[in-house]
Amino acid sequence: MEHLPGPVSTLLRPLSNHQKNMSASGRGTIEDPGKNVKAKSALNRAIVDQGWWEFRRQLEYKQQWRGGKVIAVSAANTSLECSECHHRAKENRVSQADFKCVKCLHEEHADLNAAKNILAAGRAVQACGDIRQTAA
Ligand SMILES: [Zn+2]
Repeated sequence: MEHLPGPVSTLLRPLSNHQKNMSASGRGTIEDPGKNVKAKSALNRAIVDQGWWEFRRQLEYKQQWRGGKVIAVSAANTSLECSECHHRAKENRVSQADFKCVKCLHEEHADLNAAKNILAAGRAVQACGDIRQTAA
């Protein structure tokens, strides 16, 4: 029987800079006040309250205990890239939920398409040790 490696989890890199940018865009300026400031502020606070670092620490601990591995990858552009042909364009994203590649016409729920890209990035790191993806 072939020996199978331990379980592998792919984890998005925490988005602290992204969160800062979201906060800044939500606030706006005196001349140009942001829209939905209160809602964005509440969302940011909820994200921070989730305790991503604790989640990551627990996930790494559990995976190590099970003989598995956690691979952190950047989430950048995973929602804009086609999981089939890898064409990347903002026009691929029809709406928050809908993804349709303008090149190969692949259609899928946007979250599922992004999840496939994240999984592929994790597998690439596992196969090649891509140091660009492991900076998280
Ligand atoms: Zn495509």
